[in-house]
Amino acid sequence: MNPQLRDLSGRRVVVMGLGHFGGGIAAARWLCAAGARVTVTDLAGAEKLAESLEQLKGLPITWRLGGHDPADLQGCDLLVVSPAVPKDRSEFVRQAVQRGVPLSSEMNLFIERCPVRRVVGVTGSAGKSTTTAMIGSILQAAVRAGLARRAWIGGNIGHSLLPDLTDMRPEDLMVLELSSFQLEDLDALAWSPPRALITNIRPNHLDRHGTLEAYAAAKLNIVRHQSPHDVVIIPAGDPELRRRLEDAGAGPRLREAAFDPAFAGVVHPPGAHNRANAALAIAAARSLDLPDDVIRAGLDGFAGLPHRLEFIAERDGVRYYNDSKSTTPESTRLAIDAFESPVIVLVGGRDKGMSFDELGEYMAHNARAVIGYGEMGPFILQIVRRHVPPGTAAVRQAAGLDEAVRLARSLASPGDVVVLSPACTSYDLFANYEERGAAFRRLVLAG
Ligand code: ADP
Repeated sequence: MNPQLRDLSGRRVVVMGLGHFGGGIAAARWLCAAGARVTVTDLAGAEKLAESLEQLKGLPITWRLGGHDPADLQGCDLLVVSPAVPKDRSEFVRQAVQRGVPLSSEMNLFIERCPVRRVVGVTGSAGKSTTTAMIGSILQAAVRAGLARRAWIGGNIGHSLLPDLTDMRPEDLMVLELSSFQLEDLDALAWSPPRALITNIRPNHLDRHGTLEAYAAAKLNIVRHQSPHDVVIIPAGDPELRRRLEDAGAGPRLREAAFDPAFAGVVHPPGAHNRANAALAIAAARSLDLPDDVIRAGLDGFAGLPHRLEFIAERDGVRYYNDSKSTTPESTRLAIDAFESPVIVLVGGRDKGMSFDELGEYMAHNARAVIGYGEMGPFILQIVRRHVPPGTAAVRQAAGLDEAVRLARSLASPGDVVVLSPACTSYDLFANYEERGAAFRRLVLAG
């Protein structure tokens, strides 16, 4: 850390990108508490940011909303940039760099000051939050068993740990979910977590990172600055990921995690992908020398995250699951695969340029019924119909989610599973996937 910036009291700090997800809000609040003179700037205006502004009410912040003003860089000691800002395309960031203003981020501010030594970092294209939460549950079980003083869970999972810094001790336990953007920023600190876990690397966020190689390189920052006695954990059976890590020099630290069937009864979120996530969580916990009975208790206490194959209710012998987080055909296929029972799947929403050919064919052969709704419903059903052998899967069109749930209820028999796993974004009918999932839950529970 730049020693002059260890104490931020009296320093001029600009926070760029307040957003709605908490990182910018937490950074601004923490900087005020640290005595910095804080300016918050965002391209969005006050109206759009109303909820975030409410959370910072009363703090001595200078606001520059609805655009950035280079005048704010005058005399600025530090620019704290949101991971959502594409830095290489931002004129404001370019000017800051040109003036020699150091850059930081909410995560970098935290890591520079974090005293905890036993840290597990989790990254990957899919499964980050679930795996982080599974590990978190195990760490909490370790605290209950008296094996650690405190367990901390944070990062990209949506909880800033900046306000907790003063309560942390070196001997505590911590798990951090790290996005590719956060890892890109952390490179500047030459820091990697002593236990690094990668769920998988697939094409994702290529709009920001450009190529798969650039995206993979950002993810691999999670091992780049490790020391030789640190540990890297990846799933067993991913030779491409293994090769990438060997190329990055992490070969000697690599541990591949296969699911130990002895834990089958305590992994509650359904599906092979969640067993793969649990395998990583178990390996991470074992690398911290936590005993299997604590790992078992931790996994058993984790029911799964909301909107990811979340169990809602059983009605007339039919189980309903909310998988609203699924915005890709791949996730919807995982959802259908996760159940041994016949599945009625609700798909549709707004297109994000994905191909539905494979999923359409897969659903035709593997779902008991496919119900399409929203903007993409008719298009997806057209593909399904092409592959449905007569007299097999039922294919139905619904106008909205409410009608889709009604249709599902009328088609389902006892023992079936009904799952909302849309394979599309929610923006045609909802503000976000959380709202979509909440609407599904209400409809199911009202029935
Ligand atoms: P992330 O935090 O990386 O977005 P989540 O844990 O929130 O991941 O899971 C999001 C979705 O990704 C899940 O609903 C599921 O469809 C899919 N998924 C989860 N784990 C895996 C995995 N290990 N491999 C592939 N897909 C997964």
